[in-house]
Amino acid sequence: MNQIKVVVAGASGKMGSEALRMIDKQPDLILVGCVDKRNTGKKVSDVEGLIKSDAVFYNDINLCFKEVSPDVLIDLTSPKAGYKHTKAALLNGVRPVVGTTGFTAEQIKDLSELAIEKQIGGIIAPNFAMGAVLMMQFSKWAAKFFPDVEIIEKHHDQKVDAPSGTAIKTAELIQENRSSKKQGHPEEEEIMTGARGADFDGMRIHSVRLPGLVAHQEVIFAGPGENLTIKHDSFHRESFMSGIKFAIDHVMQLTELVYGLEHLMID
Ligand code: NAP
Repeated sequence: MNQIKVVVAGASGKMGSEALRMIDKQPDLILVGCVDKRNTGKKVSDVEGLIKSDAVFYNDINLCFKEVSPDVLIDLTSPKAGYKHTKAALLNGVRPVVGTTGFTAEQIKDLSELAIEKQIGGIIAPNFAMGAVLMMQFSKWAAKFFPDVEIIEKHHDQKVDAPSGTAIKTAELIQENRSSKKQGHPEEEEIMTGARGADFDGMRIHSVRLPGLVAHQEVIFAGPGENLTIKHDSFHRESFMSGIKFAIDHVMQLTELVYGLEHLMID
């Protein structure tokens, strides 16, 4: 079998180490290198808590690409590192599958143009949980019929941004199918600041932060006498891995950079 050679950037991190476990279970994928700030020069097998693999950690992505010639880069780092790594991948003929969040619209445009110039396919997906992608798409559909909607997103208390990128993306998708409408009573008044959540085109977004949570979201639509709740829960980081595998399978056939897994999940 022709295995797809994969490098993981951010391999010592929470998502990256989960990606290593996913690769380890897939007979058609092989880990050939890791990039991280930590563990430089070490074998993956020699790092506590990681999989058994002879792949080596690099702190220089260009050197890593040169020495191990991967087909695919999985990037799960930080916005700054992720942008640099994705650019390096495109310049080196390596297909990027990027889960790192926080890229600006301008950065995505730059990378898309570079992918076209280099004729290299890639995927950037702010959410690789396939259930979450479907939750967003179902919400967009429901908004056609139910303009009254509020979003409640819940995350672990180490998350620094609120509302979550997924909640904002959901609101943007809903907005495409919903005329602007201020949710709640026209004269409602907040007795405590923030009680009604963030205002996105009149929709309300509520952010809950508690220890023990991973990533959860409910989109509540309502009409006279009925409620429709579209709910997704990521209980574990494993929930993002089937989407990453799905993206790797597709990226080998792409000749451009795709932003958002939904563009590949078409029937
Ligand atoms: P994390 O545990 O902090 O892991 C990030 C890893 O990247 C760390 O090992 C970090 O090293 C390393 N890193 C940072 N800058 C680097 C650089 N310049 N060069 C090499 N390695 C570098 O974070 P995480 O929870 O795994 O999340 C990683 C990313 O995935 C975040 O952007 C997060 O928002 C995103 N995410 C995406 C999805 C999705 O479905 N798309 C889901 C969950 C999370 P240090 O610890 O030494 O800094």
